[in-house]
Amino acid sequence: MQKFNYLIIGNSAGAVGCIEGLRTVDKNGTIAVVSEESHHVYSRALIPYYLDGKVNKENMHYRPQDFYQRAGVTLFSGQRASEVHFDTKEVVMAGGERLGYEKLLLATGGKPIVPPIPGLDKSNVFTFLSMDDVLKIEKSLAGAKDAVVLGGGVIGLMAAEVLKKKGLNVHVLELAPRVLAPVIDETASDIVESSFKEVGVEIATNNTIQEIHGQETVDKIVLKDGTVLSCDLLVVGVGVSPRVDLVANTAIKIERGIVVDQKMQTSVPDVYACGDCASIYDFITGENRPLPLWPNAYSGGRVAAFNMAGKSRYYTWGTGMNSMHFFDTNIINAGMNVSEENDQNLEIITKVEKEKRIYRKFVINEQGHIKGFALIGEVARAGILLNLIRSKVDVRPFKQKLLEEDFGYAHMHEELRWQLLKDDVVLGVI
Ligand SMILES: Cc1cc2nc3c(=O)[nH]c(=O)nc-3n(C[C@H](O)[C@H](O)[C@H](O)COP(=O)(O)OP(=O)(O)OC[C@H]3O[C@@H](n4cnc5c(N)ncnc54)[C@H](O)[C@@H]3O)c2cc1C
Repeated sequence: MQKFNYLIIGNSAGAVGCIEGLRTVDKNGTIAVVSEESHHVYSRALIPYYLDGKVNKENMHYRPQDFYQRAGVTLFSGQRASEVHFDTKEVVMAGGERLGYEKLLLATGGKPIVPPIPGLDKSNVFTFLSMDDVLKIEKSLAGAKDAVVLGGGVIGLMAAEVLKKKGLNVHVLELAPRVLAPVIDETASDIVESSFKEVGVEIATNNTIQEIHGQETVDKIVLKDGTVLSCDLLVVGVGVSPRVDLVANTAIKIERGIVVDQKMQTSVPDVYACGDCASIYDFITGENRPLPLWPNAYSGGRVAAFNMAGKSRYYTWGTGMNSMHFFDTNIINAGMNVSEENDQNLEIITKVEKEKRIYRKFVINEQGHIKGFALIGEVARAGILLNLIRSKVDVRPFKQKLLEEDFGYAHMHEELRWQLLKDDVVLGVI
């Protein structure tokens, strides 16, 4: 049995963060990565751009082809880990091979949520999460006219946009009363919906699939409200849940994801987790929750690496910050910005110019700290806003300036400006 100092399950943002972190502090320790996907490591965020023809497979690579070789990593590509034995510190592969570890990182990512609707197993139904998904969708496009996207969340809308750009008639079905409901508020949803409707994407809210018709493939879909839609391909973009199958029913604590402390350590000694499979610390709420975003996965892997190598590091800056782009509309949001309207202790300031698709909203607590924001249209300098949240700055002296497009360090008094700029530099180094 081969034995490694560091064994990583999964080969994406979290794994790369861990490898690069490990090689910063341990040049010689043995590292292995087990990767179920056989593609070279790629950016999932570029999946829609691949389908749109904006990038090719090589441009999607997150690191060069010789990355593993140069980092001295043994890569078990196209192989799935199927069991972990914490007592003997072994991982069993689906093919039966056993790998030993001293420190283990679980970076198994997320899996698509597929609702239990009869017919979703037909051959023209796809999820929108992986390179293989997008290669299958690409093949199915020849001759296709009508696409249905189930789910008006971030992934569903990304799929809808690219399918529209490919010339298909697109219907989005969303069970909630509006798109992106868990991520942005009603005003912001309205603006996003208008940018889809303007180019002819149909959005049916408060609606979902009642029945699927067709033999091998989906041909027609009957909606809850009785509408019948023709369908050449159906994309299920309902969402992603932490992929925890490998450690389900083990001693690992799971609550909506693998629970980790701020060192990215799980409830089992010498086992760490990061990225979409984990429930990680959100510095805005002070609680653990899934934060399924690329930078969170990468930096979580990096923090785990330092701790795996015996150097203490804490993950303190993760939060739910989304940067989205649909047609001509740019959106950035972070922290609380959806369901806080009824909280008397929070002040909300906004600027709305719906016809120009401009929206700026800030949620501020009693101490003057920003707890969340949403920006549409005018999205520059969101990093500065995140820094204000992170540094718990009292923004009351300049809060109206937050609503201006050109808001920046120049609007703050000198001492605060230099303090924040210094923090920016320090935060770049972990
Ligand atoms: C279409 C799309 C667009 C996105 N856009 C953005 C964006 O713009 N910005 C952003 O921040 N985030 C975006 N994300 C989210 C981002 O891609 C994820 O947060 C990130 O990929 C998580 O990385 P990860 O390392 O946790 O795992 P993943 O990227 O999910 O990878 C996990 C890997 O582990 C493998 N694996 C799982 N179990 C096993 C096993 N037992 N054995 C071996 N291998 C296993 C999986 O096959 C997979 O390859 C997007 C995601 C999608 C799908």
